[in-house]
Amino acid sequence: MQYIANPDRYTNMQYRRCGKSGLKLSALSLGLWHNFGNVDQLQNSTNIIKLAFDSGITHFDLANNYGPPRGSAEENFGRILRDNFAGYRDEMVISSKAGYAMWDGPYGDWGSKKHLVSSMDQSLKRMGLDYVDIFYHHRPHPETPLEETMATLDLFVRQGKALYVGISNYPAPEAAAAISMLRDMGTPCLIHQPKYSMLERWVENGLLDVLDKEGVGCIAFSPLAQGLLTNKYLQGIPEDSRAAKPSGFLQKEQITPRILEQVNALNTLAVERGQTLAEMALSWILRDERITSVLVGASRPEQLSDSLKCLENLAFTEQELQHIDSVLAN
Ligand code: NDP
Repeated sequence: MQYIANPDRYTNMQYRRCGKSGLKLSALSLGLWHNFGNVDQLQNSTNIIKLAFDSGITHFDLANNYGPPRGSAEENFGRILRDNFAGYRDEMVISSKAGYAMWDGPYGDWGSKKHLVSSMDQSLKRMGLDYVDIFYHHRPHPETPLEETMATLDLFVRQGKALYVGISNYPAPEAAAAISMLRDMGTPCLIHQPKYSMLERWVENGLLDVLDKEGVGCIAFSPLAQGLLTNKYLQGIPEDSRAAKPSGFLQKEQITPRILEQVNALNTLAVERGQTLAEMALSWILRDERITSVLVGASRPEQLSDSLKCLENLAFTEQELQHIDSVLAN
């Protein structure tokens, strides 16, 4: 049966301006790093994307290498778009990236013009798109001159292959240099995509200030620390969890007794606030207005429904914030 999107999809979502650009993003975005590859069930992947769109999520984040196998998340997303979303492309912001290992040899990775141009063309083909809305350089490359990488991002916008460009995983000084270079080229940097969660707070030491000063948006990836900041691991490692799967990036060794103690204490606070731990972890990031969007993953639609509820309570008392800091300091 043909998919018809929920007519009320824009009612309950918040939309935040991305830095000082004209583009607004949904406060929650959906990431396709896990759960959309050929090892996953296409119907489940389709259901997650439909729920996201029906709930007002406009932004879908991919990269050349998402899968597994690499490239298969873009292929599956392209298929889902063609089969279900044909009339909705203009209501979607679709991102891709290049800069991590994608194919063998010297041109399949990092930040050269040769890698980025080939990868961009492959991504567009896999997704069946004429352009992506946002194209990111996925991580800085110490051996490629920053000018070469930024000039390639600028080229993509001039060619119409990307509407906007961004950077990901760039530390504050490198981010500042990239932002300034892109501005000089006439293609402003739209957004930075760093890892940020209660358990990974490096962006608070300079990066968020740089982005705020430069008018660049910030989208936090792995805001649930790949599932650690949910009630999933409170009683051990479930069989169907990312940590238990051979293709997952969360290793069992990362679930240490110290983390479990912190997560249990945070869960107690979440319950007191009337939220699940996942909801509270996302609210905690979104309470900062410098954050444009939280980029969540989900292995089933129910998880996304849970995450979406974070928008119902974004306020924290000073006491709650101090309590969270003290739990995380132990
Ligand atoms: P999250 O931290 O949101 O983790 C998502 C995982 O947590 C889910 O797949 C699921 O894992 C579990 N989960 C989610 N909600 C719940 C819930 N309510 N209850 C229980 N468990 C839950 O994000 P990801 O690590 O998936 O990253 C999100 C996106 O960020 C990626 O898809 C990608 O787009 C982007 N990203 C970007 C990177 C970059 O370098 N720029 C690097 C990594 C990610 P389970 O399978 O165990 O059920």
